[in-house]
Amino acid sequence: MSLVQLRVPPADPGPGGGPLVDSQARTVRYLRVSLTDRCNYRCTYCMPQRPIEYGPRSAVLSLEEVGRLCEAFAQWGVERVRLTGGEPTLRRGLVDLVRRLSAIPTAQGTLEVVMTTNGERLEALAEPLARAGLRSLTVSLDSLDPARFTQITRRGDLSRVTAGLDAARAAGLAPIKLNVVALDGFNDEELPQIVRWAWSRDIVPRFIELMPMASGELFVPGELMLAAQIRARVAEGLGIALQSDDGAGVAGAGPATYWRAVGGAFDGRRLGTIAAMTENFCQSCNRLRVSATGQLHACLARDDTGDLRSALRSKDPDRLEHVVRTVLGTKRDAHGFNMDGSGGPTKAMVSIGG
Ligand code: SAM
Ligand code: SF4
Repeated sequence: MSLVQLRVPPADPGPGGGPLVDSQARTVRYLRVSLTDRCNYRCTYCMPQRPIEYGPRSAVLSLEEVGRLCEAFAQWGVERVRLTGGEPTLRRGLVDLVRRLSAIPTAQGTLEVVMTTNGERLEALAEPLARAGLRSLTVSLDSLDPARFTQITRRGDLSRVTAGLDAARAAGLAPIKLNVVALDGFNDEELPQIVRWAWSRDIVPRFIELMPMASGELFVPGELMLAAQIRARVAEGLGIALQSDDGAGVAGAGPATYWRAVGGAFDGRRLGTIAAMTENFCQSCNRLRVSATGQLHACLARDDTGDLRSALRSKDPDRLEHVVRTVLGTKRDAHGFNMDGSGGPTKAMVSIGG
């Protein structure tokens, strides 16, 4: 995978500090940190089928480096960190990391630490993570049919994920959100059932439009289901209306828009749609992303990166901030995804974590 490394000029000794504001006046308050680019699943839209080449383990940031990085970002106004992957629960030391990050002071109190996981290892981890200070959790689950679930993940076991979700609820992690990639011709007929299943467990379902990552290699035109179609399918299947909602209490710092059920047994329940393809949200983008190897990405959909790892490992105390602000200065106005599957980055989602 070829990423475009930004050329970062030598650090000038200008005054540092202050919030991270880009040229479009968007302020970064949210950092997504990938803890590993490996995964125990092989979701068809996320990971290429061909074997992936991994660099040496030393290329991956240590948890101590992740801690230092998050401390620095908190000083520049970041309030929330999402741990992701690959699969973040594969990373040894995860619980201790959550404890450390949750204690980092911010202007509002302490850093809000949340995580996105496939749920495979959640049953044993939910309670320790909740005790360590994890604030909320997103679990990815595209089908409630065991065979279909194994088909899309190429190896997953649905019963382990539902057991993980039960454990997360029992541990008091709330809100819990479900990420569902909606695919026409795969799980489209199931969407109302998934919503009913989630709502009856106090889980907030969110449907994601398929994004053409990995140069469109994993993007199958015709399978993309548009957010408006998703909402219509759910409303029709459940015999309800959906009204736009502000998402208070369930919305995170992300791009999801929320919708509230009107009528029926689930009156007032909410669902989200994340519509990168048809309801562009780039204008309100408030995030930066760090890969497991410490590359800073200003945009999910672009390949430009800045090298935080060498900054963290250098002796120059100003280097880190310099790389961060240089990358921020290149943050584009919007992604370039096209409906035909072109316009995306060469990186696969697994390498950056969504
Ligand atoms: N392994 C964890 C998981 O599956 O939740 C975290 C990483 S995963 C890359 C984060 C999210 O990205 C998942 O909810 C997944 O469904 C979503 N995702 C992966 N590839 C995608 C694609 N091409 N389009 C839209 N969403 C995608
Ligand atoms: Fe792994 Fe998550 Fe990608 Fe599935 S979506 S392959 S679980 S990183």
